[in-house]
Parts: sequence; C-alpha cells; structure tokens
Amino acid sequence: MVVRMEAGIGANDPLVTAVAAKALQYGLKPDVRMEKGTNYPLTEIYLLDGERVRSRTVSDHLFRLPGVDNVERVTPSMVTLACNGARDAHHIQLSPSIKIGYGLPCQPIIGPCTVYPDIKQTVSELTKMGIKAIRGGCWKPRSSAYSFRGFGRKALRWLLEAVGENGVEIVWTEALESKHIEDIRRIKKEVGYPGEIGIWIGARSAGNQELHVELGKQHEFPVIIKNGIYERMVRQLFTRVEFVLAGPMHWREDGTLDEARSLPRGNNRVGICVRGTESLDPDSPFRFAPNHSLIATIHEKSWAPVGVDPSHSAGTMRNDLVLKNLASALAYGPDFVMVEAGYPDECLGRCDAEQNIPLRRVPEVLEIIAEHNRRNDLILA
Ligand code: PEP
Ligand code: MN
Repeated sequence: MVVRMEAGIGANDPLVTAVAAKALQYGLKPDVRMEKGTNYPLTEIYLLDGERVRSRTVSDHLFRLPGVDNVERVTPSMVTLACNGARDAHHIQLSPSIKIGYGLPCQPIIGPCTVYPDIKQTVSELTKMGIKAIRGGCWKPRSSAYSFRGFGRKALRWLLEAVGENGVEIVWTEALESKHIEDIRRIKKEVGYPGEIGIWIGARSAGNQELHVELGKQHEFPVIIKNGIYERMVRQLFTRVEFVLAGPMHWREDGTLDEARSLPRGNNRVGICVRGTESLDPDSPFRFAPNHSLIATIHEKSWAPVGVDPSHSAGTMRNDLVLKNLASALAYGPDFVMVEAGYPDECLGRCDAEQNIPLRRVPEVLEIIAEHNRRNDLILA
C-alpha cells in the first residue's frame, strides 16, 4: 500500500507522522519517502509489511486522514513500477537524439510489420522523411499456423544492414524467445550496426515469463511491452513489466525472498505499448478493440513511458481506421507511437500487408504527430 500526501506536505510534517502512527496501529511498517515528482516534491508513505497490507478497510481509514491525497492498494510486486523511487526516471534516453517519456514530444516509430529482402529501399525512403526510429519484425508470431512467420535471423541481418547504411538511430524488433536476444546481440556485432536496438514483447508473448526475465537481466536493449490480446487490466500488464524491472532475485531455501540481495536491478528502460485487445463485437470493423484509454491510466499509475500501436487493431484494408486510431490515441498523450508502414506494394503474402500505411501516406502520419506535438507545446527537454 502506498499513501501519497497532498502537494506541499513535507516528510517531517505532523500530518505524515499521524499517518505513520495510524499505520503502525494496524501492524504496518511505514517507510516515508520523498519523491522528486514531475512538477513538485511528493511525500509518500510505503506500507509494505504486515498482514493487512492489502486491506480495503485500512486503506479507507488512511484515506480519510487529513493531508492524504491518495492511497493505492498496490501489491508489493507492483511497487517498483508504481514508484521506482524516482518519478523523474520517466524519461528514457533511447539514442543520441531520442528521449521518451511523460511531457516530452511523442516519438514516431515507423516501419513495416515484417522484414523482407528489399527492406533497404523502404528504410532509405523512410529515413529521407526524417524518421530516426524504425520498426521491423523478423520473427513473426501469428494467429494461424499457416501464415508467414518471418525470415528470422536472415531478416535481422537485412534489417541491420539497411538501418546501418541509412544512419537510423534506433531500430525496434520483436523477440519471441530468450534465445533471440543472443541472436540480436551477435548479428548486431557481425553487421557492425552502430545504432541502438530496442526489443518489443508482442501481444502473443504475454505468457512468456522467461522472455521477460531474460530481457530484465540485460541493460543493452530497451524494451517495449505490448499489452496481451486478452489482457484488459492494467495490473496484469504491470505484473509483467515487473519481471523486466526486477532483475535477478534471490530466494532462501525456505522459498522466502532474500530482500537484501534482491534489490530491483533489472532493466528500467521499459515502455508499455497499447495495441488493442480481443474484440468481442463481431460487427466491429476493428480486428481488436482499441484500448487507448489505458494510456491515461498507465500514466497515472506508473512512471513508465506509454505509447500506442494504432495499426494492429484496425481492420483489413482500413488505412482510415489506422489514422483514426492514431488521432484519437493522441488525445491521451502517448509518449510514442508505433505505426506499421512502408511496404512498397500491396504484397498480400506478407504479414499484415492489409493494414500497412503505404510509403506515400507516411508524411501524413508524421504530420499528425508533429501537429499534436506543436499543439501541446512539447519540446525536447
Ligand atoms: C507487431 O508489432 O508486428 C506485432 C506482431 O504486434 P502485436 O504483438 O501487437 O500483434
Ligand atoms: Mn504486424
């Protein structure tokens, strides 16, 4: 449980002492912390130990005490993401000129769903438009066993050669299994790509805990976690992010966590991406139900940068829905958007060609994002 005091109340304020004393009466051990906050310092009282740590009665009582702004009944496993001891860690430097996070300009990540032999041409066209962050899937998780599953390591090589030649600052690709992290590391070295690589965890990998854990043990590649297809609650997502943030944990022989040896030391260059969930309406033109409003929820509940993928929830042959998704998602202030774009033709054998934004329409996407950034006066910090 975390009690957040109203703005302006310092750690030594008698109101804080009163909350701490009340918590002790309930058998909870208070730990008062000053957080830097985005706009002003905040005093928070962490209550992590004690049987009643998740009790609604206790949180209701604490909430009614003078000076208390908010009480969150987060589980201990969500505490790192919820606070991480530093709200100013919102901002993640991804490459020399790309930083993402709350209050910064929304950053476009653009590129085709999957990588194909003529990727160089596409990357060159995209970079001519000023795009510095490219996406491209090499290993493709699919809904049907008979759909194209990507060219794998071969694709990664094509992709890294293409982005290397075109001065791309960061390229994003999906890892499906932990061994792909090693493939990415090795091929980056072999190709000599000097830029950054980010790895995303796709909507079909929500259950792959091992992948989350392994991405948490390394600090070389930032990570974007997409919401799972059946994942509707933010806390489900947060629980997964926690596996990346945690890093190596140590348990005693009796199975209890050795907290002193298990301070979270995982990878905190993590962003969350909302991409829609299973659609329950057979008459909807959307393949997945858009869940943009999670952007606001996640911003409220965590420090993690949050972005949107407007492409995957759009229906087949529906560029208009991708653009509508993009425009409506921007209203929630995403920190980045990942758009599938750039297949040179309507090659339907390739993955997700139907919702692909063609190259000629990419400037439109960029302008929508740039206009949003201008309107909201977002400038690089
Ligand atoms: C993708 O981004 O190419 C992808 C497969 O997305 P998702 O996991 O959201 O379906
Ligand atoms: Mn796709």
